[in-house]
Amino acid sequence: MEKSFLLRIGSNAEKQYVKKMGSLFSGLVVRANYFESAPGMLSALFLKFDSLNPSKGFIIDPVTYVFMLDSKYIRSWQKINGEKSEEKIRKDLHIDVSENVPNEWVRTIQDPTEKQKNKVEIYNIKKAYRKLADSYFTPNMAHEIGKRSLVKEDFSEQDIREFVMKVINYQVQAISTRYDTAKYSDFKAIVPRPLMILSPYFLIRNQSDLDFMERIWKRFDSQYTRDDGAIVVHCAAEFFEINYRSILEVVAKLSKKNIFLWINKFDEKKVSSTQLDGYIKFVSSAYDQGISVTNLYAGGLSSFLFPFGLTGMVNNIGYGLQRDAEPVQGGIPTAQFYIPKLHIRAQVLATYDLLVKNELGGTAKDFYRNVCSCPICKKGIREELSDFISFYGEADYPKSNSESSRKYPTSKALKRCFFHFLFSRLKEYKWAIKASKQEAIDLLDSEIALWRTDKDHLQRMRDALDAIAK
Ligand SMILES: [Zn+2]
Repeated sequence: MEKSFLLRIGSNAEKQYVKKMGSLFSGLVVRANYFESAPGMLSALFLKFDSLNPSKGFIIDPVTYVFMLDSKYIRSWQKINGEKSEEKIRKDLHIDVSENVPNEWVRTIQDPTEKQKNKVEIYNIKKAYRKLADSYFTPNMAHEIGKRSLVKEDFSEQDIREFVMKVINYQVQAISTRYDTAKYSDFKAIVPRPLMILSPYFLIRNQSDLDFMERIWKRFDSQYTRDDGAIVVHCAAEFFEINYRSILEVVAKLSKKNIFLWINKFDEKKVSSTQLDGYIKFVSSAYDQGISVTNLYAGGLSSFLFPFGLTGMVNNIGYGLQRDAEPVQGGIPTAQFYIPKLHIRAQVLATYDLLVKNELGGTAKDFYRNVCSCPICKKGIREELSDFISFYGEADYPKSNSESSRKYPTSKALKRCFFHFLFSRLKEYKWAIKASKQEAIDLLDSEIALWRTDKDHLQRMRDALDAIAK
């Protein structure tokens, strides 16, 4: 089975990383909600990427699960001219004239600027999700989106059939419809398809969710007959730990040979031994049955699973090594450094303290040997560890807020951290796809020996892999 390492682009600011390093990855991934917020830019980026790297490509993750979350995650307060507010919210949320718009969905702006004087705020559905809802669901179901979250009982067999077909079509046509004009009619024939078409998915928390997903997967399996289709398994960590065998049994009955796996909130540094064990056994047992598994939100330790049957990982550029279905609100940006031989990300100052505590990387030479020798680190760590703070931890008062009492990481420092992160992850991947099971265990042993503190997760991984290798 061919191995892959995909890069997920999640914001316009991340375009620069894709341009510089995207071709080192096997392909690109984008979440459909982000695709809908910048379709022109992303279509152009994917086309360019495809023309430069014909063997690679892109995947659009349909993120259907969001429509079963609390509606607050797909809504936001939007400023609009007061006179148009009711019309706008009725149109976007599909509220009939016979229904009232709840008062709490419209509010006045506190301390409005001159420009905002005639404006109010409406609690509207985000534009990208409105577009996705109308693309994915039957009109009856799309009507409910934003007003309440969907539940399994909303779906008749007929609804599932239409939903699955629409989600497939959305991915297949996402880019080609962008060029659907007379001007581009010749061009349309050569617009590339996504590398992989993903099944719709919702978070599995219990047996009845799994039964529901089985209906969706079966429908996807019969409606999308090409072999570039993948079954997405999105599962709560607690349910996965106990039921990974039965989940795999359900998927193994289908004809598709690809799984995209997202264990919800699965922090590889913090999970218990049994949770880690379930993940590894799921991957290796799938591999034995000829099913490839790609981890959609791979943590720092996942590369060690390649010799044990993992076939793919997806890496973000800008945030952590796990993901919760329910998004956390963006806080203050902090520069995070990926510590390669510990396989975790930590704030720059915390990393510095950790290195000092473990007497690692004190000199430039030792830093290159025991921490990292990527081009970015070589540029920044010239003499000794103190270079690390000024280079990766560079901070300044924000230009936009002169009254701020707090320094923020400079964009240069953030950029350095991200590039170093991508180099480190690529290095791990390149090594892992050629490594044997024993070599993976040996590498973990040597990393365990390197650290005095904060290494429990390495030991848990080592022991779990060792038990399976035997
Ligand atoms: Zn580095």
